[in-house]
Amino acid sequence: MSAEILSFDLVIVGAGPAGLCFARALRNSGLRIGLVERLDAGTLAAPAYDGREIALTQRSARLLRELDVWNILPAADLAPLRMARVLNGLSTEGLDVTPSGHGDTELGYLISNHHIRQAAFAVVHDQPNVSLLASTAVSAVTTDASRARVTLNDGRLLEARLVVAADTRFSETRRAIGIPARHRDFGKTMLVCKMAHETPHEGVATEWFGHEQTLAVLPLNGNRSSIVVTLRHVEIDALRKLPVAKFEREIERRFLSRLGKMTLETERYAYPLVGVYPGKFTTTRYAAVGDAAVGMHPVTAHGFNLGLIGTDALANLVCGAAAAGRDIGNADLLAHYDRDHRRATLPLYLATNAIVGLYTADSPPARFLRKALLGVARRVTPVSAALSGLLMQGALPSGATRDALARLLPPRAVTRDRSRPRMA
Ligand SMILES: Cc1cc2nc3c(=O)[nH]c(=O)nc-3n(C[C@H](O)[C@H](O)[C@H](O)COP(=O)(O)OP(=O)(O)OC[C@H]3O[C@@H](n4cnc5c(N)ncnc54)[C@H](O)[C@@H]3O)c2cc1C
Repeated sequence: MSAEILSFDLVIVGAGPAGLCFARALRNSGLRIGLVERLDAGTLAAPAYDGREIALTQRSARLLRELDVWNILPAADLAPLRMARVLNGLSTEGLDVTPSGHGDTELGYLISNHHIRQAAFAVVHDQPNVSLLASTAVSAVTTDASRARVTLNDGRLLEARLVVAADTRFSETRRAIGIPARHRDFGKTMLVCKMAHETPHEGVATEWFGHEQTLAVLPLNGNRSSIVVTLRHVEIDALRKLPVAKFEREIERRFLSRLGKMTLETERYAYPLVGVYPGKFTTTRYAAVGDAAVGMHPVTAHGFNLGLIGTDALANLVCGAAAAGRDIGNADLLAHYDRDHRRATLPLYLATNAIVGLYTADSPPARFLRKALLGVARRVTPVSAALSGLLMQGALPSGATRDALARLLPPRAVTRDRSRPRMA
């Protein structure tokens, strides 16, 4: 018996936040889209809380407004981010980053990942040009000069002019296509949970690079925060298994009681930290978006923000080609996206990894260097302004501010590096 063949203009693999936002950005393109997702439709419509509180830049907020996702996010859970503070060790003197330019009074906003997923699915679900193929996964992908073919594990075959991978940083679609990716295992796991606390956070996100641990507080509405603890896997495992009351006292101790008495409000979620950067984002009739394009370390809170920049860029190119009656999988279009997204992401990817390396090393030279760098950043106004732009717009600045930032980060992190990272 021959397999059922479904024909689309474009197939997206993965209905996570990036795949959904990409599909939404194509709502007026006139293209017929097949959206493949392993999870079932019920889970997509009401995703469970997963512990991730996503810090959105002002630029991401604007993009989500354009996609009609922002207006259906639950307002009561959208928390403004007034300031970001970086502390080194036991010092209470840190680098404060406040909003600069653009007339915005907040650096950005915090919202739970499951709310983004739910809102993005709600708008895509009713989109006439999208066919959801849920509860199935991709088992094979091939492309040639004329089309992409995606085989699902239920035996169905999809044909399209372009296949877009949005299926996590460990993308099976990318692997099926045969694109190698450089993985960096940071050897640490991040524990995240929501906690109530006595002392107000005042809308300040704080990152403590302490001795053998990295701690963060992401301010949510009311006297509650997302608490982030990064330690070795075994230590996180032990923390997760502590009885609740012992866990609460242990977190108070680790935070030096800076937030007063703390109460656990959710499950404790663990995320092993692995950064992924593929050799290329595109090849014949294939492109990657979201984490399938760039798997960031969460410490600089840029994963989904970069995902939105990528989905917006690719959607603009695809819509432009469709409107002009051109092939939406043409090689020039894909090369354009690959080049622009590399330029938007590689400096941040390298800078983030450099920051993680420097701020988690515990050798005396590393301690000295990070203290010195924070001192420079505090005193040099353009550096703070550059960091503010980075947090608000999700992009490294150009000109003088880029140069100022270069004083704070290792040089290769901020140069306009157009080369591909070496493969592992
Ligand atoms: C602890 C933590 C904190 C974070 N904080 C921030 C932050 O503050 N700011 C920020 O911008 N980012 C942050 N991020 C990153 C952000 O969560 C991710 O960038 C974002 O969720 C990626 O979305 P995605 O759609 O690309 O991938 P995913 O959310 O991984 O979704 C991929 C989808 O593809 C589906 N899928 C996978 N394989 C297949 C297959 N073979 N066939 C069919 N379907 C498949 C999956 O079921 C899933 O639904 C954080 C991440 C973590 C872990």
